[in-house]
Amino acid sequence: MISAWLSTLSADNHAEIAMGSDPRRRVPRTDAVLADPRLVEATRTLGRALVKAVVADAQQRARDGEIDPGQVADHAVATLPRSAATLRPVINATGVVVHTNLGRAPLSQAAIDAVTTASGATDVEFDLETGRRARRGRGALAALAAAVPAAQGVHVVNNNAAALLLTAMTLAPGKEMIVSRGELIEIGDGFRLPELMTSTGARIREVGTTNRTHLRDYADAIGPDTGFVLKVHPSNYHVSGFTKTVPVRDLATLDAPLVVDIGSGLLSPHPLLPDEPDATTVLRHGADVVTASGDKLLGGPQAGLLFGTAELIDRLRRHPAARALRVDKMTLAALEATLAGPPTPVAQALSADVDTLRARAAALAAQLPGAEVVDCVAAVGGGGAPDVELPSAAISLPERCAAALRTGARAVVGRIEDGRCLLDLRTVAPEDDAALLEAVRACTS
Ligand SMILES: *Cc1c(COP(=O)(O)O)cnc(C)c1O
Repeated sequence: MISAWLSTLSADNHAEIAMGSDPRRRVPRTDAVLADPRLVEATRTLGRALVKAVVADAQQRARDGEIDPGQVADHAVATLPRSAATLRPVINATGVVVHTNLGRAPLSQAAIDAVTTASGATDVEFDLETGRRARRGRGALAALAAAVPAAQGVHVVNNNAAALLLTAMTLAPGKEMIVSRGELIEIGDGFRLPELMTSTGARIREVGTTNRTHLRDYADAIGPDTGFVLKVHPSNYHVSGFTKTVPVRDLATLDAPLVVDIGSGLLSPHPLLPDEPDATTVLRHGADVVTASGDKLLGGPQAGLLFGTAELIDRLRRHPAARALRVDKMTLAALEATLAGPPTPVAQALSADVDTLRARAAALAAQLPGAEVVDCVAAVGGGGAPDVELPSAAISLPERCAAALRTGARAVVGRIEDGRCLLDLRTVAPEDDAALLEAVRACTS
């Protein structure tokens, strides 16, 4: 630092000597660099501040002698970010269908198109026929009601955690929520359901034991302080052996509202996931309110879905805090298109036929010297169906490829297994095969 300052001083003192020979003197001025047509165009798409920062970095490199002053504009162009946001697209080759760290469910093209449309001015809360205010998100709510006819009422909030929060605030202020000790769960990243629920001021009344809870445990706990009975699907683990939980249809006989958190958002039974609860069945069995996530098995945007009796859903919707938990127009658009549109990428990944996956892997490996095709096992993920093993096929590469693939021009995330980098095709959309091939070629050549 000091030597740099001293050298600046000496350059100033001996300007006549430095002129023309000192590269720092030849670093072009910011305005001159920004006038480069390529950077003018970038300023239009990325904004002036981002482009200026890139130019300043290039100028500094020239001052430091790392690049030639004549290359400042070229260097700036080469290091421009791809977009004004730093989130980058990733090819999910992990074999985990709903990968939380990769943003859970990828949206269908129908949902992406709906988001693009809704991102401008839109009739989200306006009736174009009458010119009056209309119910916000009525299209998404109608699609949700059509998908779950067993629900008298539906509502959408920010995520499942928000759905639970709203339920606790509305149905149990200053009261108790009765929960089995076997269902006091931590979901991920230190997020504990009991802590979330009690943050509203409602109290948790634990009943039963870790492995066994009986109907009479709940019945004995019900009293004037009861807000509701809560049943939570322990979505990310499985207790086996000497266990007992009380089915929804039995809990529904108790003299208290029954709230069921089904977690992953199946709306009706899924043939491949027999142990995952679904909203329709749980409502038919007598639940008063059901909560679920929108971006797990439903395959839609982050959202909290609420289904239930007309009376309770109406109370939830009218709670003052509902406003703080409401979703954006883009979420409503993506949710509606997910429900009404073609099968989602999550549904396609779950149902993909393993022979088709093997054939895709073989076709790709044939064009990649050194790559092998291996059989492997994919998972549902997103804290869902922990026992389900999905037969799959992968391209197997040397382990060192994993880092190069992550940081390449088109980021690919695989998984490391037995010292190999596996690219599991179950979670790669078939239309991404060409991009996957190019990404692997770029880092193995
Ligand atoms: C995932 C999950 C949640 C949290 O859902 P978010 O949509 O991430 O807020 C809550 N309960 C269960 C059972 C879950 O599986």
